[in-house]
Amino acid sequence: ARVEEFRRCGHQMVDFIAEYYRDLARHKYPVLPSVEMGYLTKTEPKHAPQQPCSYEDLMREVDTKILPGVTHWQHPRFFGYFPASSSFPAMLGDMLSMAFNTIGFSWAAAPAATELETVVMDWLAAACDLPSVFVSSGSGGGVIQQTASDSMLVVIMAARHRAVAQTGETDTRQFVAYASDQAHSSIIKEAKCAGVQVRSIKTSREHSYALQPTDLIAQMRKDTQDGLIPIFVCGTIGTTSTTAVDPIQSLAESVRCEFAGLPVWLHVDAAYAGTAALVAECRHHFKGLELWDSFNFNPHKMMMISFDFSALYVQERSALIDLFSVGEECLRNKASESGQVIDYRKWQVPLGRRFRALKLWFAFKLMGTEGLQRHVRRSFALAERFERWVAADDRFDMPTPRLFGLVCLRLKGQPNDAQCALLDGVNGCGFFLVSTKVDDQVVIRVAVGSPQCEAQDIDELWRAFQREADKLVGPSK
Ligand code: PLP
Repeated sequence: ARVEEFRRCGHQMVDFIAEYYRDLARHKYPVLPSVEMGYLTKTEPKHAPQQPCSYEDLMREVDTKILPGVTHWQHPRFFGYFPASSSFPAMLGDMLSMAFNTIGFSWAAAPAATELETVVMDWLAAACDLPSVFVSSGSGGGVIQQTASDSMLVVIMAARHRAVAQTGETDTRQFVAYASDQAHSSIIKEAKCAGVQVRSIKTSREHSYALQPTDLIAQMRKDTQDGLIPIFVCGTIGTTSTTAVDPIQSLAESVRCEFAGLPVWLHVDAAYAGTAALVAECRHHFKGLELWDSFNFNPHKMMMISFDFSALYVQERSALIDLFSVGEECLRNKASESGQVIDYRKWQVPLGRRFRALKLWFAFKLMGTEGLQRHVRRSFALAERFERWVAADDRFDMPTPRLFGLVCLRLKGQPNDAQCALLDGVNGCGFFLVSTKVDDQVVIRVAVGSPQCEAQDIDELWRAFQREADKLVGPSK
């Protein structure tokens, strides 16, 4: 009876989800909710119900209580942050993963989850034309982490572990990690967790906010002269604010040449833009990646693999295994002891792990690499469409060039207040965008990448920008 009840409710749930996506396309929901703070915490009972209710009653509560408080990240007019694109194939794979509910910490605990992860991570590396040093047939390999921040923690801890072993220095406060001032704040958070210092190297508009090797090397030299030990450099392909791209090849060559004797771990964070490596026309940004110890990107951002899925590749898997190989007696098994299998618990901080490989496998199988590439190209073309509108209007300035699916713009010669008023005005027209600050100037970000977004949404967005700009600075010439 329990199974039959699930079958009945499950069919209804799939219908509900299908209808939800239809409704998103028809703009039935506003992209942003209009609830007040505490709208649920103040009204819901303080205790869980003692008695069950029916599925139908519960779904009525979804309508009245949950939907009004949902920010619709899959909405065609969601242009905030970076996209969290999803797809029906990935969702189906994830459904199956939830059904199996395996905890894949070792091969013995979950052979299919383990082996499929190795397979799809190698497929993904090949689809993105990543250097062969990152695939599992050599000494490297890929592992699925939850988020880019988790990946950052894993590699920074591995760098620290290796540095202690190689230098004999146990006071890790002497260790320094480096990144540009545009790098994601996760480096600061994770370096704090690892107990190492961080240097934020200044960038400038002149260099499109990319980290300059000479600036990095100068800071590293200064620190070594002061008795500190550089152990980690994070380069970014596609920074959070403006998608700036650090010069990956020359950064690595400079560090390797200047600090050959030091155990400096080089990590590339391409959380958002890594997916662009799927398409040949973007691969020049990734040149020199084989010189880096690790590379990470989030297929859950732009590749339609539902959250969460962060792909971490390392050249030396032993660097992770050396650090994370602990475990109690009940985790011992013949397969692990044979040394012939991968136990992914030794590649990450937690023990337990979801069967995330299924959603990528489903996506590859049901859409093909071509389907994924089509989505990337389509998103970039829509961003380019918006960029062309902006470039043709003399009231606007684009402080950084568009490289992927993000367009950054501001009203020329206007103070920050005017940029904020513009942003509020546009969001008030049924869109969701966020701003950033570069060189203390407020810049509005238009992040395109929802599979639901159509050219018409882009054109409507541009019309909203024009209307709001008319109000603030008058019509364009
Ligand atoms: N790195 C970059 C460049 C990002 O843009 C982001 C988030 O947008 C992150 C890291 C952090 O991502 P996550 O939420 O996966 O930790």
